[in-house]
Amino acid sequence: MTITATRKIEFDAAHRVMLHESKCKNLHGHRYVVEVTAEAPELDNLGRVVDFGVLKEKLGSWINEHWDHQTILFDEDKALGDAIATETGQPIFYLSANPTAENMANYLLKEICPTLFDGPLKIVKITLRETPNCWVEVS
Ligand SMILES: [Zn+2]
Repeated sequence: MTITATRKIEFDAAHRVMLHESKCKNLHGHRYVVEVTAEAPELDNLGRVVDFGVLKEKLGSWINEHWDHQTILFDEDKALGDAIATETGQPIFYLSANPTAENMANYLLKEICPTLFDGPLKIVKITLRETPNCWVEVS
């Protein structure tokens, strides 16, 4: 038997997908919804995989600091990032790949979650929704 615990975290951000065939090549924003799923080999002494608040506090804090109300761009999109940063003074978050929902979810699962969670608790899945109708899952 496997028991997992999932917490939903929402944030707002701008991005664009370089070389996209259609409108996603334009800078635009989403109300992103992340679902972070944790698994532990056994329940804690209160009967939990993890306190839901821990998932929010750790990943939610990282997202709040780095992605919420930010612009997320491919690091080959520096001309746009530099223009935005110069004009607005806001920092740009660069990914080493196009900021598709797939690449963003994969980055959270593979790069960020291992730095936030240790011990027997393992983050096994990230679901990322760009809209209520469009989402990806990485596990
Ligand atoms: Zn988009």
